[in-house]
Amino acid sequence: MLVDNHNRTIDYLRLAVTDRCNLRCNYCMPSEGINFANNDKLFTIEELVRLSKIVVAQGVNKIRITGGEPFVRKDLMVLLRELSKMEGLDDISITTNATVIGSYIEELKTLGIKNINVSMDAISKATFEKITRRNQYDIVYENIIRLITEGFNVRINFIALEGQNTDDIIPMLDLAKHYNVGIRFLEEMPFNGGSKSFNTIKWDYRRILAHIAEAYPDFYQIESPKTSTSINYKIPNFKGSFGLIPSFSRTFCGSCNRLRISATGDIITCLYAKASNNLLKVLRETDADEKVREHILNAIGSRAKTGFEAQEKYKDVFSNSMTSIGG
Ligand code: SAM
Ligand code: SF4
Repeated sequence: MLVDNHNRTIDYLRLAVTDRCNLRCNYCMPSEGINFANNDKLFTIEELVRLSKIVVAQGVNKIRITGGEPFVRKDLMVLLRELSKMEGLDDISITTNATVIGSYIEELKTLGIKNINVSMDAISKATFEKITRRNQYDIVYENIIRLITEGFNVRINFIALEGQNTDDIIPMLDLAKHYNVGIRFLEEMPFNGGSKSFNTIKWDYRRILAHIAEAYPDFYQIESPKTSTSINYKIPNFKGSFGLIPSFSRTFCGSCNRLRISATGDIITCLYAKASNNLLKVLRETDADEKVREHILNAIGSRAKTGFEAQEKYKDVFSNSMTSIGG
């Protein structure tokens, strides 16, 4: 079992399989001039399988595949097929922008992959295309509806962006009125590859909730798993639910059960911390899984207690981009 230096059990890995993406969400990366990693600096599928086996043997039972956009990796399904056979791995989840997932939906179902989080930060086409800097709205919307109606457990991640999409918060909830989907409103974090920096946000979780309360005063809180980062709510007569993720306010660090491995192999023990080690290098240097395990244990043994403590230590962390960290 993986237990950190603050006695928190780590059983959830967020694994970024690429740093590339076919969108350019303005909260995540600059419009151009991005230094994507060369292919030889990314894990091969065999390496990702080996790494996954190692962490699962250490007690990780949930892996979330993220990126960049995971489905721009042409060999992603090879990885998912291997993971779906892995003893001890109970939950394979994916975070995607849903632009190119369409042709994989049938196989995802066959593999038993149910939990799909989709980033969609606007229900208005014009706003969506402005934020993502690409014109993929129709296909994203179509794929979301397909995923929901095919029985996937779909959660939509919507970051409240001052001056961009907050008019869409209430209209977005309409989806949860008609479909069994969770709409989760996230606070913006300053991890966008350095294109903008900030130390405060106008739309924190309290303001988002107050805004929703104006339209739907009867909402009520529902129970969430202990390690959940979202506080979840129901509106009477809605098929779905909504949630708030205080990713900037960081109210959930005490129960954090996650480890992140970036697309280029960095071990990231907190979103607000710098990488403590590079596993790609270790993996390529040795066939001894024990060595890899040791590096993971070392990283987990020196985690910051909270995101605030990490930020204090790594003051330049805000130059990071989510596209390599994986969110
Ligand atoms: N491309 C996929 C997607 O967009 O869902 C997966 C990768 S994306 C980096 C993972 C998550 O990070 C998304 O839910 C996205 O909304 C979130 N994210 C990216 N930049 C963020 C930021 N600056 N603040 C908060 N969340 C962010
Ligand atoms: Fe791509 Fe996801 Fe970042 Fe948007 S949030 S640019 S879809 S990696």
